[in-house]
Order: sequence, then C-alpha cells, then structure tokens
Amino acid sequence: MLQRINAHFINGSWRTVAAPEWFTLVNPATEEAISCVARADAAMVNEAIAAAYHAQDAWGRLDFTERALYLQQMADYLTAHRDELAQAITDELGCPLWFSREVQVDDPIDALRNHVGFAATLQREQSWDARLKVRKEPIGVCGLITPWNYPLHQLIAKVAPALLAGCPVIVKPAEQTPRSAIILAMAAEAAGLPAGVFNLVLGCGEQIGTILCQHPDVDCISFTGSTRVGRLIQRNCADTVKKVCLELGGKSAFIIGQTAHLAEAVQLGVEDVMLNSGQTCVALTRMLVPAERYEEACTLAAAVASQLTIGDPKAEDSFLGPVVSQQQYQAVLQYIELGLDEGARLLCGGTERPAGLAQGYYIAPTIFADVHNEMRIAREEIFGPVLCIIPYSDEDEALRLANDSPYGLSGRVWADDDAERERLALGIRAGLIFTNGAEWHNAAPFGGFKQSGYGRELGLAGVEEFLTLKSIVTEEQQHD
Ligand code: NAD
Repeated sequence: MLQRINAHFINGSWRTVAAPEWFTLVNPATEEAISCVARADAAMVNEAIAAAYHAQDAWGRLDFTERALYLQQMADYLTAHRDELAQAITDELGCPLWFSREVQVDDPIDALRNHVGFAATLQREQSWDARLKVRKEPIGVCGLITPWNYPLHQLIAKVAPALLAGCPVIVKPAEQTPRSAIILAMAAEAAGLPAGVFNLVLGCGEQIGTILCQHPDVDCISFTGSTRVGRLIQRNCADTVKKVCLELGGKSAFIIGQTAHLAEAVQLGVEDVMLNSGQTCVALTRMLVPAERYEEACTLAAAVASQLTIGDPKAEDSFLGPVVSQQQYQAVLQYIELGLDEGARLLCGGTERPAGLAQGYYIAPTIFADVHNEMRIAREEIFGPVLCIIPYSDEDEALRLANDSPYGLSGRVWADDDAERERLALGIRAGLIFTNGAEWHNAAPFGGFKQSGYGRELGLAGVEEFLTLKSIVTEEQQHD
C-alpha cells in the first residue's frame, strides 16, 4: 500500500487538502513508487500567505537573539532526527546513505547553528545616536522556493536567515523531495514558533510559485533552481516590485594550473563531479588542463572514474547512486549522445547501463576528452555524472575559457605556486572559488555572477538579504 502524504503546515497547524491532486514519488534506485503526495490548492497557498502576513509584526519586533533561540531548538530537533532525514533524502533522491548523513544532513544543521551565532553580531549592529537611528528591519513576508538536489541544505540556507531576520516564511520545496521539508516543519512546530511564522505548502512549482510571485502581500521571493525558472520568477515578481534572490545554474570550471600536483588535482576534480551523481549546482563540470599535460590528465581521470563504485545507495561503499528521476535520466543520456555527435572523445562511461544494475536510473561516471568550449556539452548544465576535459595553452587562455560561460556560480583552481594560484582565483568571474583541496565552507557567502543569479546565501551576507534599512531622523534637542 502506497504511503499517502497529505500534510501542509499553515498558521501553526497541520492541514490536509480535501480533494487533492496527487503526485507520485518514485525511488530512483528501484523505480518503485514509494508514496503519493497531495498538492496544495490555491486556497491553501493564499491561507499560508495570510497567516504569514498576520504573523510578521510580532515576529519582526523580537530581537535577533530571541529569534535565534527558536533556530537553536530547530537545530536540536533536526539533529535528533538525523537518521530519519538521511533515509528520506536517500529514498527520494537516490544519493548514498553515507552522503545523505554527512553532507545532505549534517552540513545544513551546522549551517543552521551558524545562524544562531550571527544573532549577537546583528543585534550589536543596530545603530543609535541622538538624531539618527538606522535600524535593520525584516523585509517582510518571504516565499522560499527550493530544488531537490540538496533538499535540506537549500531549505536551511533560506529559512534560517529569513527567520533570524524576522521574516515569516512560506516554504515551497521541490516536489521530488518533500520529506525533509515536512521534518523541518515538524522542527518549527517542536520549537514552538509562533503561528504563521513558518508555513509549508507542498505541490506544483508553476501553480504555487506563480501565486507566491504575484501576491501583493509577499515582499520577497528567494529561489534556488534552474535559470529557466529563475527568469520566469523575475518576470512574475515585476508587477509587485518584490525583492528577488536567485540562486541558479552553473557550469563551473576547475583550472588545473601549470604547477599543480596533477594526480591529486584530477582525483579531486573527478570525484567532485560524480558526487551526488553530478546533481550539484557548483559541480566542476569543465576541467581545464595545460595542453602539455592533457593526455596524462585524461588517463588519470579515466582511472579515477573506473575506481568509483556505483550502486545501491544503502551500501556503504557506493560512491554514487542513480540520478533523481526518469526525466533526469533521459536528459543526461541525451547530453551524452550529444557529446558523441559533437565529436568529443568518450574516455569512460556513456549511455550503457552500468553492469549488474538492471533497475534504477543509474548512469556510469562519464568523461569526455577533446572537448571545445563551444560545444553544447561544455556550455549547458547537464546535471548528471558527466565531466568535460578541455586543454589550454597558457594562463590567459585558461581564464578566458573559464569565463567564457553564461554562468558564474563557482570554480576551483589548483596550483602549488602561491602567485599562480592567486592570479587564477582572482581571474575567474564566479561567486565562490575554492583553491587546491579546500572543502565546502558553511559560512562563506554563496551566490552567482552572470546568469547564475544574484543575492547571497549563508554567512552574515545571507541574513542581510532578508533585511532592509529604516532611518528615523529626530529633531535636534534644544538645550537651555
Ligand atoms: P527547477 O527550476 O525546475 O525547480 C526549482 C523549484 O522551482 C522547484 O521547487 C519547482 O517546483 C519550482 N518551480 C518550477 N516552476 C516554477 C515556476 N514557474 N514558478 C515558481 N517556481 C517554480 O530546478 P530543479 O530541477 O528542481 O533543480 C535543478 C536546478 O537547480 C539546476 O539548474 C541547478 O543548477 C539549480 N540549483 C542551483 C543552486 C544554487 O545555489 N545556485 C543550488 C542547487 C540547484
């Protein structure tokens, strides 16, 4: 019997839709239906907006430090439900369970706790003097729309700063991954957030998203997802002049410098793309390698890929599982075929089903050599386990190729020489650059240049997105 999920959290209580449309969730590792999720209807979305609207004054009047106490309790709840969260994400998304625990769950909880720590700083920043008071005030009611690839992370990166800033929220997660959002709503309930401050509506992006974007009582939309939908959101928000934050797609470059330790750099580069089956917005999908070391890099990359275990997400030794859905599976396979048609050289992987995996949306780690930056596989976001390796002749060409992209989300440079590393890191036009083996940083402001969007998440900069300034000028005091 299929589990039925009809759960929307509105104005402090759980609600069901009376005669819902159902959306079927499929486990991508088995291709079996796992549950049906009821879509919220327009009336319910409007109720959520009204609840948030009525909650905003009281919530906005609290100090940052008071609001942070609620975040602390939400983090404690999520920590206590770590295994349940990880299991839900693995069932819905297909990434290995170890990855769900360590990356999909632990990292966002850590990011949530960071926000608790920002409260004191924000409180101190409220400036007062005799004639001018400049206050940071919440921007208002926020619609938060998120994708499926890092479901809890995307939610926390918006919910934590918005709530800390004093904004009530209406959360609309991706349809493919509702369970982590439900557990987050349970955390808000357990923390005793005042009614209307946290609202969750599950359902269709186009329908709910359009209502949120066009509603005059919603002051801000923070969206993470594809550049295609980001453009639509921007248009839909224009009439009501909302603040919009857009975290969109990427086609990030990894410049392996002349002085890099090639084997270490290539290993990191291949693993980076294959994690989460390539469904990572900051994935380093274009590896740029000095021409004189190109063949060596290609051989190393194919060897690394052949060592990665693909299979059952529940197995501890699986490095990657399936991609999220049949739609995604078909889209990625089409890109692999396109790469072959464009004349790229297939080093490993391809469209063949990996051995021993008769069911599931599995795609073997795929690497293309002899890729030119003009090819579509080098320009468009594939969002699957596919890496392009591109040669460059000198540093100028490396930076030109890295920046020759409509996107500018992220990048990495690897050089053992400090000056080379710094020149390359400064030269890439993207919002987040890693150097050598550096790991993800939960307090680094994150966001795009160019068509990767605008606005920042995480760090104090992420909270500032949900704040606006109010100046109060007072009469000069007359002294006798
Ligand atoms: P998507 O754009 O299809 O959907 C994202 C969200 O928008 C979902 O909740 C969806 O229901 C909703 N949506 C769909 N149509 C809408 C509409 N007309 N109005 C409002 N909302 C609508 O993206 P996806 O397939 O879920 O996620 C993959 C994309 O997300 C990739 O392009 C990836 O690069 C991007 N992404 C970006 C970041 C980042 O931080 N920059 C992070 C993760 C993913």
